[in-house]
Order: sequence, then structure tokens, then C-alpha cells
Amino acid sequence: MTRARLRRARITPSCTLKRRAVPKTSAATKARRAKKRAEDEKLAKLRDQVFERDGFCCRVCGRGSGFTATHGKPIVWHDIHAHHIKFRSQGGKHTTANLATVCLLCHDAIHARRVRVSGNADEALDIRWVA
Ligand SMILES: [Zn+2]
Repeated sequence: MTRARLRRARITPSCTLKRRAVPKTSAATKARRAKKRAEDEKLAKLRDQVFERDGFCCRVCGRGSGFTATHGKPIVWHDIHAHHIKFRSQGGKHTTANLATVCLLCHDAIHARRVRVSGNADEALDIRWVA
């Protein structure tokens, strides 16, 4: 706000802090948020597609999402993740071929490099436990 406008509005610079108006959301910000929302929805759909392909079971240990537990302690559905076989940090893409359903524990193990997962997730994966 210019000094002239502040004078007209009888607002001194010292009280502008208290009276600061909430900035309007710009069209660019709205567009950016809409784009982000659309992208998030697309990724959520892709993740669901991957979970369904894998029967909501971990591709490493076979543990299910609680409804289809095959062995051991059943896990709840949110304990399954979609893992990027080629890490996103290494340019891995959001495709069903690059995404595999893994449980929380196996996901930790993969990122701790105790398990190596490679291959095409739409086909058979190569899973190696590192001693
Ligand atoms: Zn697992």
C-alpha cells in the first residue's frame, strides 16, 4: 500500500501489521493447486491399481493387507505401500511396471538395502535378500 493510500485510509504504517488484510489467492496459485490436486488424484488411482494387481499383498514377503493375510501377523491396509522399483530420486517413473506393493517392513528393508528388488512389476520381480 502506498503512503498516500495509507493516509486516506487513516492507517499508519505501524498499525498495518495488525490490520493486514488476508491476501487474495492469485489465479496462478489456484491453477497450481488445481494441477497438484489432479496429479495427486492420478497417483492415488495408480496406487490403487497397483494394490489390486498385487492382491493387496506384499510382493517381497507375501504378507497381505489384513484381509488376505497368508502368514504371520496380519497387517492393516495402510501398512502396504507402493514402492518405486527404480527410485524416484534416480528418475523412476510413476508406472505400474515400476510400482510394486510392499509392506511397511519390507519397504524399510528395501530402503535400508537389505533387500534388492528389480525387474518389471507387471511381470515377475527379482528379489534378493542381502545378508
Ligand atoms: Zn513384506
